Amino acid sequence: MQYLVFKTFIKEILFLKLILLFFVSCLMSVDLYAQAKITKVVIDAGHGGKDPGAVGLKSKEKDIVLAIALKLGNYIETLMEGVEVVYTRKTDVFVELKERAEIANRNNADLMISIHVNSTKNSTVYGASTFVMGLGKADDNLYVAGLENSALRFEENVKERYKDFQNDTMPTHIVNSFIQTKNLEYSLAFAKLIQHQFKTRVGRKDLGIMQDNLVVLWFTTMPSVLIETGFISNAAEEKYLMSAQGQDFLASAIFRAFRDYKAKYDAGTLVFNAGKVQNYKPLDIAYHVQIKSSPKPIDFKSKEFKGIVGIKELQYGGRYNYIVGHEYEMSKAISKQNQVRKLFPDAYLIATKNGKYITLQEAKRLINEK
Ligand SMILES: [Zn+2]
Repeated sequence: MQYLVFKTFIKEILFLKLILLFFVSCLMSVDLYAQAKITKVVIDAGHGGKDPGAVGLKSKEKDIVLAIALKLGNYIETLMEGVEVVYTRKTDVFVELKERAEIANRNNADLMISIHVNSTKNSTVYGASTFVMGLGKADDNLYVAGLENSALRFEENVKERYKDFQNDTMPTHIVNSFIQTKNLEYSLAFAKLIQHQFKTRVGRKDLGIMQDNLVVLWFTTMPSVLIETGFISNAAEEKYLMSAQGQDFLASAIFRAFRDYKAKYDAGTLVFNAGKVQNYKPLDIAYHVQIKSSPKPIDFKSKEFKGIVGIKELQYGGRYNYIVGHEYEMSKAISKQNQVRKLFPDAYLIATKNGKYITLQEAKRLINEK
């Protein structure tokens, strides 16, 4: 009996010790964040040099984002005392994705702001969004894993140098998972302030906060965001992004968000309620012309297709359906249909969402929503 009491006593002591350890480690971690003030920010203008980024009808992403980055840096340097700005690039040069993150890590920055411009095949889509790091499984194909990872196309030895990212999307380089979770919370808090500024102060369409497996965010060891300031593929938005006033408005919006973030961070009053955060999924809604349907697969080179090129196969309901065209506007899809009907009189319009059949009505509704 006495032995049992003794055993329980030892167990209790061990338990108390564990609780104490837990609290001490929490306090220490919290202190790391609470004591610090924001004194250094890294501004990362995406792409550059041989990598133009997204290309519009009249402009390139690399030029727009550099202009915004320099304006933002200038605002911080002239209007905020005690904050040092580090740039990943100040001219039209190519910087590798990993090196951008390393610049922030080496400099012990408190925050990284990566600035980009978005693009999509659907020219009606516009608006601004802010990305934070995603924690999901990265796609096996690094180039399509994340929207902005395509810059890797311009790098060498990618497979070897980025294998950590592919093997493990939970960043093992940030050993302390507490810090990792905190970084994400702080990134989300900042992202919310940015989107608020975009929406309420400079009239951008608010596409919200998104999470994605982006290399440049993944390799940083501090809170970091990647801002998609607008769509270069939308004529009106490209005009705005190219204009000195548009760039100035965007830079000032990010500046005000940063000023708010720093004030609240330094005072320990940041609010961690980011609201709705979406997992980034490219949404592709398109119209096509269906020319044939068969219970068995047909070779694209078969005479049955009468030499038509650009055919895609869509399996549905146990049948092999063959479609051509990929249009985002109904009028263009109809003219494509009229053209195709010269060879295939029974051809008709269909619609897809990310490669799966949807009704034409549903497609219309979704396209109008965007
Ligand atoms: Zn970009």
